[in-house]
Amino acid sequence: MSHATTNRLEITLAAAHAQPSIEEANVHVRVSETFAAHSLRPFQIAEALGADAAAFEAFVQGKAKLEAHVANRVGEIVVKWASERGVTHYAHWFQPLTGLVAEKHDAFLSRSGSAPNFPLEKLSGGLLLQSEPDASSFPSGGLRATHEARGYCIWDPSSPIFIRADGGARTLCIPAVYVSWKGHALDYKTPLLRAMDAVSREVSAFINVVNGDERCTGVTATLGLEQEYFLVDKGFATLRPDLVATGRTLVGAPPARGQQLEDHYFGIIPSRVQAFMADAERELFRLGVPMKTRHAEVAPAQYETAPIFEEMNTAVDHNLITMDVLRRAADRHGMTCLLHEKPFAGVNGSGKHNNWSLATNDGTNLLEPGAEPQKNLRFLATLAAVFQAMDKHNDLIRAGIASAGNEHRLGANEAPPAIMSVYLGSALDAVVQGIADGAVRTVEQLADIRITQALAAKPDLTDRNRTTPFAFTGNKFEFRAVGSSENCAWPMTLLNAAVADAAKALRAKIAAKSGDRATAVLEVVREVFNATSRSRFEGNNYSAEWRGEAAKRKLNNFATTPAALAVLGDDKRTAFLTEFGILSHEEIHARHEIFLEKYAKLLHIEAASLAELAATQIAPAVQAQLVRTAQALSAIGNIGGKKVGEPHRLVRELEEIARRYDALGGAIDELRRTASDVGHDAQQIADKLRPAMAAVRSESDALEQTVADDLWPLPKYREMLFIGA
Ligand code: ADP
Ligand code: MG
Repeated sequence: MSHATTNRLEITLAAAHAQPSIEEANVHVRVSETFAAHSLRPFQIAEALGADAAAFEAFVQGKAKLEAHVANRVGEIVVKWASERGVTHYAHWFQPLTGLVAEKHDAFLSRSGSAPNFPLEKLSGGLLLQSEPDASSFPSGGLRATHEARGYCIWDPSSPIFIRADGGARTLCIPAVYVSWKGHALDYKTPLLRAMDAVSREVSAFINVVNGDERCTGVTATLGLEQEYFLVDKGFATLRPDLVATGRTLVGAPPARGQQLEDHYFGIIPSRVQAFMADAERELFRLGVPMKTRHAEVAPAQYETAPIFEEMNTAVDHNLITMDVLRRAADRHGMTCLLHEKPFAGVNGSGKHNNWSLATNDGTNLLEPGAEPQKNLRFLATLAAVFQAMDKHNDLIRAGIASAGNEHRLGANEAPPAIMSVYLGSALDAVVQGIADGAVRTVEQLADIRITQALAAKPDLTDRNRTTPFAFTGNKFEFRAVGSSENCAWPMTLLNAAVADAAKALRAKIAAKSGDRATAVLEVVREVFNATSRSRFEGNNYSAEWRGEAAKRKLNNFATTPAALAVLGDDKRTAFLTEFGILSHEEIHARHEIFLEKYAKLLHIEAASLAELAATQIAPAVQAQLVRTAQALSAIGNIGGKKVGEPHRLVRELEEIARRYDALGGAIDELRRTASDVGHDAQQIADKLRPAMAAVRSESDALEQTVADDLWPLPKYREMLFIGA
């Protein structure tokens, strides 16, 4: 038995015997006692500031700068709070366009004090407000020449400061935006904050026109993110170079038993996974992340966790923290948490449903239909703004979810398609239809509007509702097409921007109408309902009919990432982002370039990993099989020097394996050739490199089902998906 195969067997047995690890010390602690213990929220700082609280609050709301003496006091408060909790270092925690978070740790230790106070634990106001990491190695998409390496992290006080506790280390993480010295946004957070401002401004003005008063002083976008992920035993993940390098399996035959029985969804959570979840949740509770729901998802070894929704900026930060905590906790429990959109071919991928709504400053949910939605002007007007946003800017909204990972989900018949459309559910659809037709109908089955909420989460894969990318779910929309590994700041920036644009346009339309306000509003609502009907669809989004119908309706259907990103290069289509001050043309072009480059690099990494894996692990296993079959043949052919029958079957097998071995080798050669031919042209990569990878995979997967199990070096799907997690 070869070395690699022994590893696979040992790892499989170890995974089978892995026990849940339970931290008894934490089990008896009441959640309310520790909730947010590792999170320092703005109101706590304000409380500690006393007389300077108002100045600080104005700063948090972005209305005023923080004067140096107040900033220094804030620094003192922060350091005191942190060092009492054993924190030694701080870091501005920011979101560069790599898609991950970044941080550079510095100790509080300072030489600035004189004896007997030296060394001091100190964080000056200046350093709290701003730091300057060397930015030269982060992608800037041309926003910054290499010799202008300066980038600044600037504290975002609207999102809570938090302590990352890992092993013995306690680090204070200060949420920050990241900009170049010329002021260009180099991160995900800056445009999100700008888009939230735009939405607040435009939607409140819109609502005031709809209501005919001035009561709405601001609007907050709210967000609840459902995070899906897979868990596999760490031993398996380690033996899979493709998982290590790319986060997904590049080969792997479908297991006999996959998700056909649909028995995993909401199934009983295995003990080891349960222990991991409890551990992760306790940490998240301490960090002030309001985790609410946990359950087993559709695919084997797939799970989901979701928090209570929060104001958007905090929700995004908390999701990034959640992904980090999930990964670390899984690791502590001997498992690997896979956040990739498609870790396993042939079983469901992972998404991150963005539950999104808008709330006024007094807490009113603008998407709450109320008892009589057909008469609720505020609700209908908000709905119209969402329709218009989704219709007019569907190309940008599609661009917001375009990535190499999500490409495997969108349009792959098990996730929302790449065509952006809105789903309402039959009851609300009837209301909208009624208004569009000019005959306001009363709602007979109001309860049905609520029921759509339940339908959206229904386990049945054939449920038409699961097929939609953007569903109304009772009092919010659920953007279901977002990928599981994504920083949702980007799709949410674009969605909010699109809604701000729509609100502005509809407000102008209403103002241009004569007659009384309510009639004018309803008229505009009707016009918009009619004008946007093409991008609403209640049927099965997976079906070929819908693709045909969508083409007739002239809806975009971008199958590849580069095609979906192209809109970022079209200044006319993105002009509104610039008008609202959300992203300048340079900032948009930079993102276009960075995302294309990231796509190209990721696919080249996948191609190279696959070629190496196939050449150095799979081909040798096939050779071993060839030798074994040949030996069997010659042994049978020479028993006692006599021929025993005609071993046709062995001959056929030998020929078949030899043929497949050649085909595999040919496909590997072709993959390597294609990789060098396509260079860094993202569209070429999408069109040519992906099929070349698929060809290697299909040979390998066929061989996996032919080669003797003891010769196969890689953990198989049936092991990774069903043992140890
Ligand atoms: P469903 O099962 O239909 O997806 P849930 O009630 O489980 O609905 O909610 C899913 C997510 O939506 C949760 O994170 C929840 O907090 C969030 N959510 C609920 N109401 C709102 C809202 N008004 N705005 C944003 N998110 C919301
Ligand atoms: Mg949901």
